[in-house]
Amino acid sequence: MENYKNLGFKVQDTNGNYISYYKDGKWDEGKIQKEDTITISAFSTALHYGQQAFEGLKAFRTKEGKIHIFRPDENAKRLQRSCEKILMPKISEEKFLDAIKQVVKANEDLIPPYGHGASLYLRPYVIGVGRNLGVKPAPEYIFGVLCSPVGSYFKGGLEPVKFTVTDRDRAAPNGTGDVKVGGNYAASLLSHQKAVEQGYADCIYLDPLTHTKIDEVGAANFFAITKDNKFVTPVSSSILPSITKKSLIHIAQNYLDMEVEIRDANINNLDEFKEAGACGTAAAITPIGRIDYHGNKHVFYSETEVGPITKKLYDTLTGIYYGDVKAPDGWIMVIE
Ligand SMILES: *Cc1c(COP(=O)(O)O)cnc(C)c1O
Repeated sequence: MENYKNLGFKVQDTNGNYISYYKDGKWDEGKIQKEDTITISAFSTALHYGQQAFEGLKAFRTKEGKIHIFRPDENAKRLQRSCEKILMPKISEEKFLDAIKQVVKANEDLIPPYGHGASLYLRPYVIGVGRNLGVKPAPEYIFGVLCSPVGSYFKGGLEPVKFTVTDRDRAAPNGTGDVKVGGNYAASLLSHQKAVEQGYADCIYLDPLTHTKIDEVGAANFFAITKDNKFVTPVSSSILPSITKKSLIHIAQNYLDMEVEIRDANINNLDEFKEAGACGTAAAITPIGRIDYHGNKHVFYSETEVGPITKKLYDTLTGIYYGDVKAPDGWIMVIE
């Protein structure tokens, strides 16, 4: 683990992970286990009917050596919404935060040092388990938190990437696109693979009802900067509400003094934007250099250089992650 720049985003060995079981209508206390294996009935609803949800968040090491976890309460609330929507028992915010703390403490020595853009990625998950055949909610559940040290998404500086636009949908207008459930990801694998085969980083999903407005950029939310410096980001019933996006809205308004417009971004009117990006926990921000749509190649700021406003947003957000920029109240959980 010496070369933090090349850590990438993959599974590394850790000291352990958290696991808690739900039986007879209640969660047990939960514990840290060493192995990242679980034994469940092959009849489990998570395996057949996609009854599962997950989260993703990160722990960062500050310059002073403290551990910062970014907005874990937001992940706790989103996981509750996911569980509610697919009929799984909710995990209280208190239980969620306790699990996160236990995993971070057990793996404290694996949190990459400050200054490499690396972090400890945390992966909470809830799955329906138990012997069940009919389509109905599982009798039992597992809530776990896995982790892995991960590197910076960008090995050099922030590099713009290009995207194509898919005609397929990852979610339905009134489906499960607004919650973090595995089914949405299964539905995205083919489109992602086709985009990569054609030389793109990923594909853009349009709103599933009219196919005219940008919904998501792969598994990240979309934002753009208008020619008169407004921060624009769409909302729709099929967009997963990104915590990174929610944070960027606040940063744009309160740190960069920008106006924010929460409104549609029409795929046929990209000329109104001078910069664009994708945002999510994995990369924080990925600058969008170019979008190819129906033979039209739309270049934003540049295909090789990040735009100045995207750069400012990125620097402020990552500065908050690592404790170099003062965070708004309640954004950082410090682990002692
Ligand atoms: C997790 C996820 C995001 C990003 O959300 P963050 O909270 O910012 O990590 C965006 N889109 C989809 C589909 C996701 O699953």
